[in-house]
Amino acid sequence: MSEGETPEREVMEYDVIVVGAGPAGLACAMRLKQLDEALNVCVIEKAAEIGGHILSGAVIETGPLDALVEGWREDPPPICVPAASDEFRLLTKTGSRRLPTPPQQNNHGNVIVSLGAMCAWLAPKAEALGVDLFPGFAAADLAYDDNDAVRGVIIGDMGVDREGNEKDTYVQGIEIRAPITVLAEGCRGHLTKRAIGKYGLDAESDPQTYAIGMKELWKLPEGRVKPGHIQHTIGWPLPNGIYGGSFVYHLDKDRVAVGFVCGLDYQDPDFTPFEAFQQFKHHPSMHALLEGGEILSSGARALVEGGLQSLPRVEMPGAMLIGDSAGLLNVPKIKGTHQAMKSGMLAAEHIAEHRTTTGFDDALRASEIVAELNKVRNIRPGFQKGLWRGLLTAVVETVTAGKLPRTIANHADHEQYRKRNGKVFDYDYVDRDLPPRDRLASVYFASTEHDEDQPVHLKIVDPDVCFTKCEEEYGNPCTRFCPANVYEVVDDEDGKRIQINAANCVHCKTCDIADPYQVINWVTPEGGAGPNYSNL
Ligand code: SF4
Repeated sequence: MSEGETPEREVMEYDVIVVGAGPAGLACAMRLKQLDEALNVCVIEKAAEIGGHILSGAVIETGPLDALVEGWREDPPPICVPAASDEFRLLTKTGSRRLPTPPQQNNHGNVIVSLGAMCAWLAPKAEALGVDLFPGFAAADLAYDDNDAVRGVIIGDMGVDREGNEKDTYVQGIEIRAPITVLAEGCRGHLTKRAIGKYGLDAESDPQTYAIGMKELWKLPEGRVKPGHIQHTIGWPLPNGIYGGSFVYHLDKDRVAVGFVCGLDYQDPDFTPFEAFQQFKHHPSMHALLEGGEILSSGARALVEGGLQSLPRVEMPGAMLIGDSAGLLNVPKIKGTHQAMKSGMLAAEHIAEHRTTTGFDDALRASEIVAELNKVRNIRPGFQKGLWRGLLTAVVETVTAGKLPRTIANHADHEQYRKRNGKVFDYDYVDRDLPPRDRLASVYFASTEHDEDQPVHLKIVDPDVCFTKCEEEYGNPCTRFCPANVYEVVDDEDGKRIQINAANCVHCKTCDIADPYQVINWVTPEGGAGPNYSNL
């Protein structure tokens, strides 16, 4: 090899590569080995430990676990509390009214888990079946063959400095090749985004729509937690025009999972989802529950909400999409894990039988997974015109089981912002005293770690837009929608610019989705970097 020439990448070969060790990816890999133990299957995961980047509510339906893990109830995941009671409330600033629990949210027979802990619990079971698991392996790109079909993934190089130079610790990333690559990256995966763009997979579907979910795990003084109790709220602190609500799941050992979800189609660029979450915790009923407790861990993650209308084509030459990479979350149920696992198993069955990705799109669309989305397809977009219209649509859709011959279209979230025009909306917020004080204090509980001396993994591809247009029109909303305060406006001797505190990033992907000009591009940092969530 002559000087300056790039060495050939080392290549590993498998029959199937799964990108992402979430519930969809692990279910797919495990089912593949159950169906054909001779298949060589690997799962690559960007988190340092399996489950470290997973964040979800999460109340789950147990059917897919029954199908995948025999006898799991005798050896359940580390957090696994049977659902005991449901409560659904409409909050005002100082009070609340109990509403009938929507039938989709009846959790009888379901269990409350930490999805991160559940994936960590599934991982050794996958290994026992013969799956090769590679945590800390971040797939930087897809690899293509001469016919432009996906032929695997390229793992990111390690030991590159901020300017892109090789450090002493430099190790070139390998290429992992397989006839079939399964993308199970979760919501807004960066390889999935590229694949959708390259193959035009969304040509026939509406734009995908999203929300941001934030979650804290609390330990409370003895006697307050009612294990198995499931609370959801709508209303305050969100105004009529912003979709979202809270969840409070009572666990064991005096722990409670507290979370808040905001649709990313909000119109006010001054809105701050993190602040809305913190305000919710200061509703009198929540304050009384949390006061005197402590936060054990916290984090944030975007979630897909587009449902049937936004479902892209899920197959392409050499690769397929499953779980939230496809966008299978059932919004009215507030659940996606069962859909993710079922789609993973369906993909495995398709691969084991046909040894090709061709036909998987038809198989998914003919499955109960998509039938479930079809029944509720108008409920989430029904909230585009506010809370009350949304509730009315939800009632009609539920009563008719989605049989009315209409489908409400989804629109891209980032196109919904209203220009500022000097107007400031009053959110009717209260003073806060519960932790965390601010977004930076919250990041502490995510245990996020990135080597600062590596290329910034958040790229503003057209930084001129920030101060020639965005500042005036929208007031740089990236400084507010990011739950980790990664984006800050600084004005010093180097001029006015957006400073990117990439080391704080919790990989929620909100900036990649919600930036009004779509100039922010999230790419994966070095493998193993990012949050280290514990029991989220
Ligand atoms: Fe989420 Fe982007 Fe902020 Fe990272 S920088 S925490 S991906 S919004």
